[in-house]
Amino acid sequence: MLTFCGGVHPPEAKEATGHKSIETLALPEKVYIPMSQHIGAPSKPVVKKGDEVKTGTVIGEPVGRVSVPTHSSVSGKVADVTELPHPLTGTRVLFCVIESDGKDTLDKSIGEHEVSGLKPEQITAAIQQAGVAGMGGAAFPTFFKLSPPKEKPIDTLIINGCECEPFLTADHRLMLENPNEIIEGAGFIAQALGVKNTIVGIEDNKPDAVETMMNAARGTGLKVQPLKTKYPQGAEKQLVKACLKREVPSGGLPMDVGCVVQNVGTAKAVRDAVRLNKPLYERVTTVTGPGVKEPKNLLVRIGTPVNNLIKACGGYAPEPAKLIMGGPMMGIAVSSDDVPILKGTSGVLVLDSALAAELEDHDCIRCGRCIKACPMGLAPQRLYYHIKSSRLDAAEKEHVLDCIECGCCAFVCPAKIRLVHHLKYAKSEIAARAKK
Ligand code: SF4
Ligand code: SF4
Repeated sequence: MLTFCGGVHPPEAKEATGHKSIETLALPEKVYIPMSQHIGAPSKPVVKKGDEVKTGTVIGEPVGRVSVPTHSSVSGKVADVTELPHPLTGTRVLFCVIESDGKDTLDKSIGEHEVSGLKPEQITAAIQQAGVAGMGGAAFPTFFKLSPPKEKPIDTLIINGCECEPFLTADHRLMLENPNEIIEGAGFIAQALGVKNTIVGIEDNKPDAVETMMNAARGTGLKVQPLKTKYPQGAEKQLVKACLKREVPSGGLPMDVGCVVQNVGTAKAVRDAVRLNKPLYERVTTVTGPGVKEPKNLLVRIGTPVNNLIKACGGYAPEPAKLIMGGPMMGIAVSSDDVPILKGTSGVLVLDSALAAELEDHDCIRCGRCIKACPMGLAPQRLYYHIKSSRLDAAEKEHVLDCIECGCCAFVCPAKIRLVHHLKYAKSEIAARAKK
């Protein structure tokens, strides 16, 4: 079975939701939509308090080269345009707060239209206008990945259906329930890139998804490739290695070895953007973990507060202890459940006190397990010491910027040190210094 070197085997913990169909969450009364939801410049609000909007109306326009518009996810009235803490970074950013009128009236620009004969630049423009950004978590504007520089020719598109993060099943369900839309979206992306070779990589712990996607892909030329179940199989560099045996260089991107990687959810959003002119205003999110009563896969409007999702899942179990946006390996802990769902929120994980206690950290015992586990060949323990001693230059020399934040090191660490937290901090500090 194809795979990559290194990595770990955390418990999959997907049984609570893997078999559950996607349910549509009731419209929220209010949505809180940040103008910054993707890597790149935030969009600039183009509505003010009191304005009427429809579902899918542009409420923020792109600023700069790597930016996409932001859309309303409900119809109703703008209640406020104000600064609030970003759910993931805590820094204050502009939000549009919109009160739903409960009618869900679609913006008149949305509707099915002719797609035959579209030129690559028309497809890319439709994707940008729909505000599509990577839905696997990284939230990189999709249109930008489809416009690589001329000196980096692309020959292969990889659609990422691995969903290697424990607990999460949103992509798994999407492959089972919307395979044709994913395949059509992959076709649009391939057309925009001008590539003939498309591979859908799926971990072999999802045989039903492999079979469903193979059936849907029949006659399209697209290849569905089962991959060994190992974390982080779904990380871009590891996926490229497993599917194509190509090594993305240190500091490089998949485009440096002729390929582009897009998540299955993104492919579905691309299909909706190109065929329906539908902006990215909703997504599938898994709500799970021992701290929630009835875990589910939910189709949710962007900007919906997490507490609405928890309520739809029967509320908290007796001892909820920690709320994580994303999965246990790469997710980010948040202090309150009034934070909104973003384009990149693939899951909401609620830990109970027993599981949270297991994750409390102690001193490093220099066992070296983190070094063996790192799929990027880094020495996380050394990086951790450099960072703790404020030696960011030393951490940079030892390639901390190559860290893909997969969490394998923290997973194997017997001292439960929050290595990813320190590595992320170092990367953002080094990036901020470089900008000055
Ligand atoms: S150092 Fe970075 S890339 Fe290596 S295991 Fe830790 S989080 Fe993953
Ligand atoms: S795995 Fe944890 S305890 Fe072991 S060397 Fe790495 S940081 Fe230290």
